[in-house]
Amino acid sequence: MLAKYLAAGSRQNSPQEPRHSSRTRKEKKIPHRRAASNAGSPAVTRPSLDTGRIVTLETELISQEQNFKNEHKRTSSNDRKYTHSASAKSLGSFSDIETFKKEQEEQSKKEKILHSLLNSIKSGNLIPTNTNFYLIGKQLGKGAFGKVYLGLHRLTGLKVAIKTIDKSIIQDDRTRRKVFQEVYVMKKINHQNVIRLLEVFESPKHLMIVLEYSGGGDLLKLVKTRGSLTELEGKHIFSQLIEAIQACHTKNIIHRDVKLDNILITTDFTCIKLCDFGVSRSVKPGEKIYDQCGTPAYLAPEIIADRGYDPFYVDIWSMGVLLYAILTGTVPFRAKTLPELHKLILRCKYDMPDCLSLNAQDLIRRMLNPVPYMRISLEEMKIHPWFIDDENGFIEDSIIPRFAGGFMCSYRKTSEKEILMRMKGLGFPCEFVYQSLKFREINHVTATYYLLEISNMI
Ligand code: AMP
Repeated sequence: MLAKYLAAGSRQNSPQEPRHSSRTRKEKKIPHRRAASNAGSPAVTRPSLDTGRIVTLETELISQEQNFKNEHKRTSSNDRKYTHSASAKSLGSFSDIETFKKEQEEQSKKEKILHSLLNSIKSGNLIPTNTNFYLIGKQLGKGAFGKVYLGLHRLTGLKVAIKTIDKSIIQDDRTRRKVFQEVYVMKKINHQNVIRLLEVFESPKHLMIVLEYSGGGDLLKLVKTRGSLTELEGKHIFSQLIEAIQACHTKNIIHRDVKLDNILITTDFTCIKLCDFGVSRSVKPGEKIYDQCGTPAYLAPEIIADRGYDPFYVDIWSMGVLLYAILTGTVPFRAKTLPELHKLILRCKYDMPDCLSLNAQDLIRRMLNPVPYMRISLEEMKIHPWFIDDENGFIEDSIIPRFAGGFMCSYRKTSEKEILMRMKGLGFPCEFVYQSLKFREINHVTATYYLLEISNMI
């Protein structure tokens, strides 16, 4: 019921935008330069859904398993132990058979999902998504409202992130509004540098928000393990952040929690993605707002002043804090207590390290301007001299930074034709796909479409 309401497309009434009034969230500490690295999470031990591999393994393993069974029957109880281990050796290991069985189970689950989806489309009433549609893997992180897990979209075998929110939490009106707001806002944005909302569904206990997966960790982790980034790396990251924020602002959405932890890096380290719209909201141009929210070290002075603020400028301020943080490894405003921190921010008192180029210093100063309307705009940022590489023109033509693959956003959206071919291959009627997309519905069919669109894996 909840998920249906959140996922409602334009065919039905859009959910009324909830009023937002969250309080300041807990700050995550910014590390010092070259801090010790974080231990990585354990790898997922899920069966591979690589169908190519399944097919080749299939014939080989069936005959191997059959041989094994026959051989096993023939042996006496005395030599059974020996034969058993010998056969196991010739098979590789028992885990191969286990893996194969699991892969077969996965295949049959995939077929069942497809069968029930296609039947429900035929009957004119698409079945709601349930947890069987995804294989849930390791925990990726923990947010303000619940845990985030790695998931596998069974129909395509592609990875997703699944945010789970305990339904008991959303009994509270304020939390419920925040969760609804997050979904409502994410539904509106479709940009390569913003984590994409794929669908929303529910289990008896949880509301599940399925998101595009970005497996390269976040900028906080990167700065923790690597220390401050070079200016060239900073340019690659920051130019993408400008695009992400612009995508939000042009839809009249303010993020309000731009910080290192909310910038995810794609698995191939080529692209950054803005995430966590938990305190974002949509606003009307010229509207003054009074909510106090964000992360303390990134708060704009006008939020702290608490006399109402023009919403769009607060994201620019946080971007200034973020740029400072990636280039220096620490935030510009640091204090032991919250009142002290507020004082520093209100006075705009911070040290600008000499090691930064004059252009970088200038850009940061223009973002950290205490007078909101005097802050540099997103359009002005794009043509700021910092982004001009002395020898090679704009950074797009510049040398590759020290990351594998560089920080150029190599993202390529798959063409509509390609995706529709793939959807058709799965058995989905094109007309149904068209109509669902046209009415911006959020269901398993559109989730499959969007996932294929962003996956580049066709
Ligand atoms: P959030 O609730 O959005 O603050 O997310 C909590 C944590 O989960 C983040 O800090 C990330 O480590 C992880 N996470 C959230 N969304 C994603 C995603 N789309 N892809 C990968 N990891 C994610």
